Amino acid sequence: MQLVFATNNHNKIKEVQNLIPKNIKLLSLEDIGCFEDIPETQSTIKGNAIQKAEYLKTHYGYDCFADDTGLEVEALNGEPGVYSARYAGEHKSSNDNMEKLLSNLKNNTNRKAQFKTVIALYIKDKLYTFEGVCIGTITENKEGNKGFGYDPIFKPKGFDETFGKMDLTIKNKISHRGKAVQLLVNFLNS
Ligand code: IMP
Repeated sequence: MQLVFATNNHNKIKEVQNLIPKNIKLLSLEDIGCFEDIPETQSTIKGNAIQKAEYLKTHYGYDCFADDTGLEVEALNGEPGVYSARYAGEHKSSNDNMEKLLSNLKNNTNRKAQFKTVIALYIKDKLYTFEGVCIGTITENKEGNKGFGYDPIFKPKGFDETFGKMDLTIKNKISHRGKAVQLLVNFLNS
């Protein structure tokens, strides 16, 4: 059985491929000849994940899954949310995004935030969604330079260091994406 993962990130594909039954072969967007930008115009993370999976199903006809992630900051009413990648503009600079967030939270004592990942899976014309959340706080300053996106300013609950300082193996075990992927894997194995 073939299943399209709506990404061209080969590390992501390899990671998931190693966790699922061997009779399921994961294909990338490249593998199915999909080179266009898939629309993500919904107002929620879940909505965007579903929109991407539906687009692939409709235009390419494969069983597939797509993920979408956002950082939700309590004091900013859930911002940047679906705008996480382009919070400081369409150039999608992680550094500018972090600076904007730190500036918007300046002198604010409520630093609570969560990362949320939703995976939408279409299999035999049925839709399933899996959600992973990682709660934590936004630091006052950037700490560490590992990872990507907002990692240097996000400290997961129960840990003394930001994702930016954390080994990837540990981050993957506790992260929003790690949890959503685990739910998907459990489903595919069941
Ligand atoms: P995407 O839906 O996976 O493309 O994520 C959207 C945006 O959320 C990314 O461009 C990053 O800015 C941010 N993001 C997603 N996952 C993470 C993470 O694990 N750490 C830090 N930032 C993330």
